[in-house]
Amino acid sequence: MPFERTERALAAIRANGGRITSDRRAIIEALAEGSDHPTVEELAERVWKRNPDVNLATIYRTVELLENLGIGFHVHMGHGPSRWHLSDEVHQHLVCSVCGAVIDMPDEVLDPLREQIAATTGFVVDAHHFSLTGTCADCSNVT
Ligand SMILES: [Zn+2]
Ligand SMILES: [Zn+2]
Ligand SMILES: [Zn+2]
Repeated sequence: MPFERTERALAAIRANGGRITSDRRAIIEALAEGSDHPTVEELAERVWKRNPDVNLATIYRTVELLENLGIGFHVHMGHGPSRWHLSDEVHQHLVCSVCGAVIDMPDEVLDPLREQIAATTGFVVDAHHFSLTGTCADCSNVT
C-alpha cells in the first residue's frame, strides 16, 4: 500500500530527528506510489503533479536523506542515471540490454553466489546496488 509505505518512511525520518515538511511528504508519496524505479527526474515529474513548487534540489537532497537513513537506496541500471527505491522492497534487477526491460528478481536468488564469494574472499557483496545486464527471454528468442 502506497499510504503505509509513505507512513513507514516518514516515521523513520521522525525517529531520526528529521522534520516532515510538506515537500518531503510529497516526494516520499511519489516514490512510494509505484513499483517501478524512477530516476530523480522522473520522480520530480510525479512530485510536480502534486506540488509544482517543490524544487529539484530539494528532491535530490531528500532522496539522499532517505539513503543516509537507510529508508531508500539507489541502483544503477545500465548506462542511465541512478534509479530510486524505498528500502522495503529490496530485490535484484535484471536489465535487458536489447529492449531495456527491467525484470525484478528476488534477492535470495543470489544468496549461493554471495555465500561462495564470502567464503572464498571474505568479501560481502551488496548485490542490489548494480543490476545484472543481459538479454531478456523475448529478445533472445528472436531468430
Ligand atoms: Zn551508486
Ligand atoms: Zn529484451
Ligand atoms: Zn526494483
